[in-house]
Amino acid sequence: MNQTMRGMRIGQQSLENEAGVRLSERQEQVYICPNTHETKVIFAADAELPDYWECSSCSKTAVRAVEGKTIEELTVEEDGPKTHYDMLLERRSEQELEDLLAERIEMLRAKRKRGEADL
Ligand SMILES: [Zn+2]
Repeated sequence: MNQTMRGMRIGQQSLENEAGVRLSERQEQVYICPNTHETKVIFAADAELPDYWECSSCSKTAVRAVEGKTIEELTVEEDGPKTHYDMLLERRSEQELEDLLAERIEMLRAKRKRGEADL
């Protein structure tokens, strides 16, 4: 009984020490590739984390993941308020799309006039 207790205490202490060392000196980062392989990379705690890493299984580009989701997925899901600049950009691209569409319609109309429309 005494021996078992002592064994548990020692085990607990060494686990705590290990965790403490890991936290202070390095961090583990998970990268997920398009084939959903998970690549774990150990970085120094103060290292700047790259967003992409080569997959250790298939050598494709893996994306840094936070709690099982890649930062790309997290960026898409982000639903924060849009900045004025974002809205300006969106409006501009919408306008560009409309211009393109108008151009196409114009071309189609010209074709129809000549009896060449294929739609
Ligand atoms: Zn892979």
